[in-house]
Amino acid sequence: MTTIKQFLCGATVAGLVAGTGAAIGAPLSVLHSADWWLAAEHVLLIGTDGTNLSKILQYADNDGSGFKTAMDGGITGAANEVGHTTISGPSWSTILTGVWDTKHGVINNLFNPEPYNQWPTVFNLLEHYNPAINTSVIADWDYITDIGAAGGTGADSKTYIPFDTTWANTDAQVTAATIAQIMATKDNPDISNFLFSYQVQVDEAGHEFGGGSPEYSQAVVNVGANIEQILAAVAAVKALTGDDWSVIITTDHGHQQSLGFGHGFQSPNETQQFVIFDQAGDHATDGSQNLNYSIADITPTILALFGAPMRSDFDGKSMIDDPSILDSLVRPVNLEQALTDAMSLVGYPNIGDDITLAIRTVFTSIPYFIDKAVTQLSDYLQGIVDQDIFLVSGLAEAAQQVVQFVGGLGVDATEALAQVVAHMTGVGTIEPTDPPLSAEFTDAWSLLGLDPS
Ligand SMILES: [Zn+2]
Repeated sequence: MTTIKQFLCGATVAGLVAGTGAAIGAPLSVLHSADWWLAAEHVLLIGTDGTNLSKILQYADNDGSGFKTAMDGGITGAANEVGHTTISGPSWSTILTGVWDTKHGVINNLFNPEPYNQWPTVFNLLEHYNPAINTSVIADWDYITDIGAAGGTGADSKTYIPFDTTWANTDAQVTAATIAQIMATKDNPDISNFLFSYQVQVDEAGHEFGGGSPEYSQAVVNVGANIEQILAAVAAVKALTGDDWSVIITTDHGHQQSLGFGHGFQSPNETQQFVIFDQAGDHATDGSQNLNYSIADITPTILALFGAPMRSDFDGKSMIDDPSILDSLVRPVNLEQALTDAMSLVGYPNIGDDITLAIRTVFTSIPYFIDKAVTQLSDYLQGIVDQDIFLVSGLAEAAQQVVQFVGGLGVDATEALAQVVAHMTGVGTIEPTDPPLSAEFTDAWSLLGLDPS
């Protein structure tokens, strides 16, 4: 198959780039940069919520697990978020913006699109840099697809898979949709892709049974098997198009071992994270470890892979070219042991930060729990309303309106209080130094002396 990329490659493009229309005599560097410019980039970010690296190494570090396949083919860092809130919303926001909550200001799992206007997501940044990149998100938590839609220009495609029977089954549907999306790229090999695929069953098992439960371990095994299928699809499409994909796998936080709050505090089991990074075409570093990976590095790295400019106010750094990260690469004889050793060095933050973060988590969790309780109570009453029973259904409808009204007051009031407490403890206190992404358009209009309104 002659693709546009193949057709344009080489002499024709060298002439175009050189602006001469004649390829003869074009410097070699022009040929190189032209070929580079035309090569499509494909980047896959896989997120598994609330997944302890220690459980991956214990239960899913074997053949048939995508965790092992990715670790064997890439670089793994036993990351942690000591000193940062171990709640999903703030941590996924860090993964998808490249800044910590001191900047993005996200406090809990009640979705609010506002922060991403100031702190653009990886989707916004890629779309702004090059709208031709096909950006997509597939997730079974609507908070994640909502992030995909937030900010300036959101992801091109947002696929929310709602809960179906079990979380394992729902993650299987995310996996199937992810594989379908990857395989579909074979028809358009010249279009660059960024895909974020998110699975939730590990975190759900941790909340229902505890991080030390057999159900949690089984969920880690299940996600490992799902990732293995996804990586097989990447290999299959590479065999068809010749294009390799860069793959990053990560989590937002760990889990307490016993059944209870789950996470949100600063115990090593909760702050434990990991980043696995397999850069397309790089095999020299397969199976190695990096001592300096952080979840904040993921968005800067994705931008670097596409050749997009860095923000001046990122907390993270590019894992492909930042010297402080490249200098932290080690080649352990036994990767599993080396990662276990790295985890054992991680302790609690200082007592002041530990207590401050605990208080913040208590305050920011209240509105989220009220919201969940109101939704569950309201759904229960809706069931009675739907049965259309004389008098009873009417009463249920009235009760539902009261629950929603009072619950809404509770959510709004406690959310406002939570915002104040979070801000007092450092959340959202650092302003961006880069202008909003839409600034250039405004400037372009004013340069032309036109009023866009
Ligand atoms: Zn989470």
